Amino acid sequence: MILLEQVGFTYADGAVGLQDVSFAVPAGELVVVAGANGSGKTTLLKHLNGLLLPQQGRVAVDGVCTRDDPHGVRQRVGMVFQHADAQIVGETVADDVAFGPENLLLSRPEIDARVADALDAVGLTHKKHHRPHLLSGGEKRRLTIAGILAMRPPVVVFDEPFSSLDFFGVQQVLRQILALKKTGHTLLVSTHDLDKIIAHVDRILLLHEGRLVRAGNPDDILPIVEQYGVRKPDVSRLGMTVRSWLN
Ligand code: ADP
Repeated sequence: MILLEQVGFTYADGAVGLQDVSFAVPAGELVVVAGANGSGKTTLLKHLNGLLLPQQGRVAVDGVCTRDDPHGVRQRVGMVFQHADAQIVGETVADDVAFGPENLLLSRPEIDARVADALDAVGLTHKKHHRPHLLSGGEKRRLTIAGILAMRPPVVVFDEPFSSLDFFGVQQVLRQILALKKTGHTLLVSTHDLDKIIAHVDRILLLHEGRLVRAGNPDDILPIVEQYGVRKPDVSRLGMTVRSWLN
């Protein structure tokens, strides 16, 4: 369970990141954080794994407050950043995936097993000796997902996971997200473009200027998204399209 209570955060230059944001996400849900550019999506996601700490209110994951134990929370909440290049650190694909488990001070056999599992899960085993910067955009994002999977967090947050990907890249990343959902992970995905994922979402959090306008299921939220600068997807057609891609 993720809990935010009256969370407020303002950047040093005075830009408002979040204002009085409260919500709870039960384990196992796939939640989309929607809003126009600058509405606070990234700021919100960074609060979930303790990368940012609330200036007002509190954020707790499974009862552990980010302010009390940011390290513990980071082990429970993995974050896939919008810009994969910022997250890639290894000389090879396998080294990159090993980086997280190495920081958890796991044994070498355990690290190797986790790297193998994570690369298999994202379909990059055949590229394990490749240099990460030579991968395609979709492969890089799958690599950063593998790096998170190798740490085995029960919660994964994705910041704009479909941005700058082509059709096949989007499909590959969507498959990963849905596979994580099937295995019981709690997932929060930020996007300003709901089309890609709407058919699979349990709940939408709609942000505007750092405030949570409303949280609810897609039927509650989709009728109002356009007022807040988010394009409304054609749900009936898209649901079918997305399912047909996956079959
Ligand atoms: P989104 O992810 O929805 O585009 P952000 O969380 O990135 O929104 O930004 C929310 C607000 O905070 C915006 O006004 C943005 O300009 C501002 N902001 C974000 N990051 C920083 C930063 N590092 N320094 C100053 N202001 C920032």
